Amino acid sequence: MRALVTGCAGFIGSHLTEMLLATGWEVLGADCFTETYGRPQKEANLAAAKEHPRFRFVDDDLLGADLQPLLNGVTHLFHLAGEPGVRSCWGDRFPVYIDRNLLTTQTLLEAVAGLPGFQRFILASTSTVYGLAETLPTPESVMPRPISPYGVTKHAAEEMVWLYGNQFGVPGTVLRYFTVYGPRQRPDMAFHQFFRALLADREITLFGTGGQTRDFTHVSDIVDGTIRAALRPVAGQTINLGRGEPARLLDVVATIGGIAGREPRLHFQDPRPGEMAHTAADITVARRLLDYAPQVGLEAGLRSQFGWMMQQTAV
Ligand code: NAD
Repeated sequence: MRALVTGCAGFIGSHLTEMLLATGWEVLGADCFTETYGRPQKEANLAAAKEHPRFRFVDDDLLGADLQPLLNGVTHLFHLAGEPGVRSCWGDRFPVYIDRNLLTTQTLLEAVAGLPGFQRFILASTSTVYGLAETLPTPESVMPRPISPYGVTKHAAEEMVWLYGNQFGVPGTVLRYFTVYGPRQRPDMAFHQFFRALLADREITLFGTGGQTRDFTHVSDIVDGTIRAALRPVAGQTINLGRGEPARLLDVVATIGGIAGREPRLHFQDPRPGEMAHTAADITVARRLLDYAPQVGLEAGLRSQFGWMMQQTAV
């Protein structure tokens, strides 16, 4: 099986790439090192994969790249490239989200339509599409109603997958990831910032009361669910990948403080627009269709992220 992993230098894409290589796949990885965060972190994410004989890397922006040579012989496309994050998706930066989340997805779908031997297009979507969902835990049947421009672009990308499946027979699966954490987490994400603040003896900034809850999911469980979805007959499906056990932010901060061996000092600010109050994944469908069973508890997962962050600061 030959995979194209887009966004292979990113947080989740680099872990997925390594797991595919470890389980016998040939992997072509594509990434253009967007400016969203520093290139050195992304280069480090890719370092192990680049040593692997079954890995090939293309440094190119998928929007505007000549895709046909890249897709030659590809059986599975894992589309993780995108512009993530809710906080910077407003105002002038919205066109970046349109390009990287919607246009790039449409371009790839167009390119795989009718591709000989092509078996699956996997889209990395997000719990953000649910917005202020009243049903918690939220099943896939709840109508998405995003409350951020980021969520709107990801939901539109989901609709593109459905559309190309319906009109052109592209076998697509949409995965809705719930707040992913673990080694290599993006520097704009909460746990990364909390650990950094503690290690630098700075205050932790919390937006809102800290009473918000999230279904934090370890990156290794996300990778496992993603590969299962590629190998099972779930074309046409939309599937939540979460842990199914939401946690309150204030409690997580206390756990993080315990792991780092520092007492967190908190600084509260107003909630940011577009941030959801609560997320909780109903993972019944993933359990049934994928035999997905998340393995990593929150404390163990946080320790794995802390270990990685300590290595970074030691370099
Ligand atoms: P990331 O920013 O670490 O990785 C995305 C990668 O895509 C980056 O390395 C970037 O350089 C690359 N990229 C973006 N646009 C590109 C383009 N046009 N051409 C080539 N490369 C491009 O983000 P992540 O946290 O690993 O997220 C991966 C995917 O999962 C994203 O689509 C994101 O929306 C989705 N997701 C992430 C989370 C999470 O908690 N991290 C939750 C839900 C969904």
